[in-house]
Amino acid sequence: MNEFPTRLSVAQAQACIAEQCALRRLPAVTVALQDAFARVLASNVLALRNQPPFANSAMDGFAVRGEDLAKPGPHRLRLIGTRLAGDGSTAQISPGECLRITTGAPLPVGADTVVIKEHCVVDAEFVVIGAGETRGSHVRPPGEDFRTGDIVVGAGRRIHAAELAALASTGFDEVSVSALPRVRVMTTGDELVMPGAECGAAQIYNSNGFGLAAMLRSCGIGLDLLSADGREPAFTHLPDDRERIRSALLDAANSADLIITSGGVSAGEADFLPGLIAEIGRVHFWKVRMRPGMPILFAEIGRTLVFCLPGNPVSTMATFLCLVRPGLEAMQGAGIVGPRLLHARLATPISKRHDRTEFMRAVSEVRDDGTLWATPIARQGSSMIRGLVEANALIVVPEQSRTLDVSSIVQILPLTE
Ligand code: AMP
Ligand code: MG
Repeated sequence: MNEFPTRLSVAQAQACIAEQCALRRLPAVTVALQDAFARVLASNVLALRNQPPFANSAMDGFAVRGEDLAKPGPHRLRLIGTRLAGDGSTAQISPGECLRITTGAPLPVGADTVVIKEHCVVDAEFVVIGAGETRGSHVRPPGEDFRTGDIVVGAGRRIHAAELAALASTGFDEVSVSALPRVRVMTTGDELVMPGAECGAAQIYNSNGFGLAAMLRSCGIGLDLLSADGREPAFTHLPDDRERIRSALLDAANSADLIITSGGVSAGEADFLPGLIAEIGRVHFWKVRMRPGMPILFAEIGRTLVFCLPGNPVSTMATFLCLVRPGLEAMQGAGIVGPRLLHARLATPISKRHDRTEFMRAVSEVRDDGTLWATPIARQGSSMIRGLVEANALIVVPEQSRTLDVSSIVQILPLTE
């Protein structure tokens, strides 16, 4: 059955996924600014005007002419009025004059300096300013933040709070973002029942469906996209029935950009997916030299990409973070694709005997020395969900590493954003 590449390294698998996903770049769509959160910007957004558009005060105080403060102080300037933020009336000050001003108010013509109110004493219609003020201080020149034509947010950026605020500051109420991939999630296994249902003697509850839906949600792919009418569960569950899995895959391939399955992809008697997908689609690879998660399969059925993730809950999560999420990002043209790795020091030694990349559940924390340390949790079985809850990161132990000493620097993949 092995006419397709098998036992790829993690890097080879990531490269293959990136290539296939880039061939399926999703189109750009226009959305209202308030709906743009967590989406990927499809094209550069340029400033149509300077920000700030006019010279204005950075503080509450008094706008003055810097030359009036040139001589040793104190200085006594005539207060000719007040200008609050939002006041667009023209104001001008002449030598020996000043204007009360608030943060964000346009600087009056003639003024080039703001003296903060804490440094001033108001004496009837005069303001007394002591020595030591610097000409030009507390003034925000036009275009200080960005200039007309500057890229305010670049294509490929995921829109979070900072990007959303920056986009709003340009005045646009719509942005062009990548369409979201239409994702279908299917879990497989005769032994699985839904939480809330009666659990038979040899059965366990389906947890991967929920874990996968939640991970998709953290990628900005909402549950409403996963279910047809918003009431159905976010995923479909299938028994280990070759024909039913076949027709579910073919059906999903008609409408989805991406299918994610869990279970049934190893070498067991009921593991139908590799043979089935080779029949109805094209397998890009089966098995990656990683642990957990080795049996992962990546394929296409028509235009639809398919990730078959192994069923053990830790394998499902590790393969999603390491391989599926970068694929979803590439389809959306995200500038930063791939697992977001950090560096940490190892708090306890590690040893492994195999030549695969190991993803070890660990607790990472910044210690008093200011450094991030990672401690592998005691039990690493790929079926142990509890470890996923205890851990907040996966230590990535490279293929070639056999032993790693305490305080070696390792890469870690955070489990939450
Ligand atoms: P499989 O990959 O189908 O051989 O499954 C490997 C292990 O993962 C078995 O112990 C399954 O019971 C378990 N498993 C498979 N799918 C799920 C799921 N959706 N939720 C929880 N455990 C699962
Ligand atoms: Mg199974």
